[in-house]
Amino acid sequence: MEIVYVSIDQGVPRYVYTGCKNCSSIMGISLCSIKNRGCCYYYPRFTLLDIQRMARSLEGLRVLETIRRLPSVEIHPFEIHAKGYFDEEGYVRYMESGNRIDARDIRDHSIFFKACPFVKSGYGCSLPPRYRSYVCNFFLCNEVIEKIKSSSSFEAYIKERERYVRWVEWENTSLREILFENKLDLVKDFKSTIKLLQDIPLNIYDFPQLQRITISAGFSRGA
Ligand code: SF4
Ligand code: SF4
Repeated sequence: MEIVYVSIDQGVPRYVYTGCKNCSSIMGISLCSIKNRGCCYYYPRFTLLDIQRMARSLEGLRVLETIRRLPSVEIHPFEIHAKGYFDEEGYVRYMESGNRIDARDIRDHSIFFKACPFVKSGYGCSLPPRYRSYVCNFFLCNEVIEKIKSSSSFEAYIKERERYVRWVEWENTSLREILFENKLDLVKDFKSTIKLLQDIPLNIYDFPQLQRITISAGFSRGA
C-alpha cells in the first residue's frame, strides 16, 4: 500500500508519494552510471524565493554556496540553474543504435542519460525539502497520476498545487521588482543581492493539509 500526502518542511510544502523509493516509472529508467535516481534527471532552477529561503539561515547559506560552486552552474540575474550530469557519449551511441526504449509520450530520450547534481543513487535528493524548487516538491509522474486520479481528493491536489505555483510566481515577481528598484541582481552583485534578500520579510504560504490518498494494489481511493 502506498500513500500520497502533503508534507510541510519549515513552511515549505510538497507532495510525497511513498512509492518513489521503488520507482518503476519510465522516467525512472537510467541508462547512465547514476542508477536508482527516480525522476531526478532534472536540472533544478532556483528562483529568488528559493534563494531568499536559503539566505535566512546558516544551513541555507551553506546549501546556496554548494549550488553556486557546482561545476556547471549557470547564474542568471534572477535565478540559478543547477546543471548536473549528462552522459552525452552514451546518449549519442544510444540514439545511433536505433534500439530505443518504448517511452510512450517522452520524446526527449536524453533524460535517460542525465542526473541532477543533488541526487544520490538509491537514496534520493540530498537537499532538504525546504530548499528544493517547487517543481521538485510538487512533481508527480504520469504513472502516479494514473493511480490517484480516481480519488475524491485528487482534484484538490491539482487545484492547490496550481494555487501555490501562482503564489510562488507572484512572490518571485515582487522580489524581482525590489531588486530592480535597487539596481541589483545575482550576476551584477551576488553578495549584495543576498544581503537585500535577507532584509526582505519572508512570506509564508499557508498550504492546506489535504486528505491523504491511499493506493491499494489495483485501485485507489481517498483515505
Ligand atoms: S514521481 Fe514517479 S518517476 Fe518520480 S520517483 Fe516517484 S514514481 Fe518515480
Ligand atoms: S533537487 Fe532534489 S528533488 Fe530536485 S531533481 Fe534534484 S535530486 Fe531531485
